Amino acid sequence: MLERTVEEKIKDCQQFADLTIWFQGNFREDFKARIKKLFAETIFRLDKVLGRSLANLESIICMDGASCRRVCWPEPLPGEDWEYKYQILLSGLVLNRSDEEVRQTFCHELGHIVLGHCVELEKEGRSVLEKQEAEVRDFCKGMGF
Ligand SMILES: [Zn+2]
Repeated sequence: MLERTVEEKIKDCQQFADLTIWFQGNFREDFKARIKKLFAETIFRLDKVLGRSLANLESIICMDGASCRRVCWPEPLPGEDWEYKYQILLSGLVLNRSDEEVRQTFCHELGHIVLGHCVELEKEGRSVLEKQEAEVRDFCKGMGF
C-alpha cells in the first residue's frame, strides 16, 4: 500500500478536526479556526501512536467558562457495542493560552484515550485518578510535550 503523503495526512487531520470539534457559545471565527488547526496539528504529531484510539473520541466541545476535562460515556450509544466513548471538554479559557499550550492540552486528553483511562471517581477513588494523571504526563513527555 502506498504511503500517504504528508499533505494528505494533514488534510485528514483537518477533516477530523472539522467533524469532531463543536463550539457551544459565542466564539469568534478566528478562534474556531485556530482551535481546529491546533487540534489537527496535535493529531498529526501523534499520528503513529493514536492508531484506532481516535475512533473512541466522540467529540470535542468548546464551551464558555468550563474547565478542560475528559468524560467517559459508560452507556453504549444506539446501534453500538458496549464501549467507552470520550468527549473532551475544552474551556474557552484556552483563548488565553499559547499555541503550544493548547496542543499540549489536546495531547494530554488524547493520552487518556490512547491509554484507555476512564475515571469513575465514586468507584475508583482519587489514587486511581492520580496514577492515570502520572501515566498521561509520561505519555506527553514521550510525545515531546
Ligand atoms: Zn488528565
